[in-house]
Parts: sequence; C-alpha cells; structure tokens
Amino acid sequence: MSDDEVPKLQSISGRPILPGEATPKMGPLAQNHSLVVTTEASRWQGCPACRKPFATGDFVTLVALGPGDDPAERARAREGRPYNSLAIPVHWACSTGEET
Ligand SMILES: [Zn+2]
Repeated sequence: MSDDEVPKLQSISGRPILPGEATPKMGPLAQNHSLVVTTEASRWQGCPACRKPFATGDFVTLVALGPGDDPAERARAREGRPYNSLAIPVHWACSTGEET
C-alpha cells in the first residue's frame, strides 16, 4: 500500500494518535466526499466491517492499523513511543455500535 491509498491518523487530527486512543467521529459525509464518490479503481468502495458503501450523511471514523512499512514508524511503535499509524475508514456505528 502506498501513502496515497491509506490515510494517516495524524492527517485527520493534526497530531499523532496514541495506541488505543479513541479516533474522532467524522460526518455526516457530504455528497461529494471522497468516501462517497468512488471510481471503479477505488480501493475504498465501502466499509470493510459491513461491506456496505459509504453514503451521503454517514458518520465514519478511522481504525488504526499500525505503523505500516515505514522503518522509523515501526521503530517508534516497538519502543512504545507515539507513531503515525495507517488507518482505514469505517462507519461510526460499525466501529462503536452507536447508531447515531
Ligand atoms: Zn460499516
């Protein structure tokens, strides 16, 4: 995966997210949001938890995957220091169970 395909949590919050820290609730998604407007080639055609497409008005959050293949971020993770995590978008309800 390249950096262009997977969002980093830091780019959303403006600072690194610590391991285990809650990620922000984002939304409702606008009609022209990049998660709603997808192309045939898009990797993000839907929520990986429920397999349904993202739609206008949905609330989403990011789920941290880990440091990815960046050696410096991996070293920070191993040492228990804050690091930039790769993340994937999922529906807010799919991540938290909260329906609203
Ligand atoms: Zn979902």
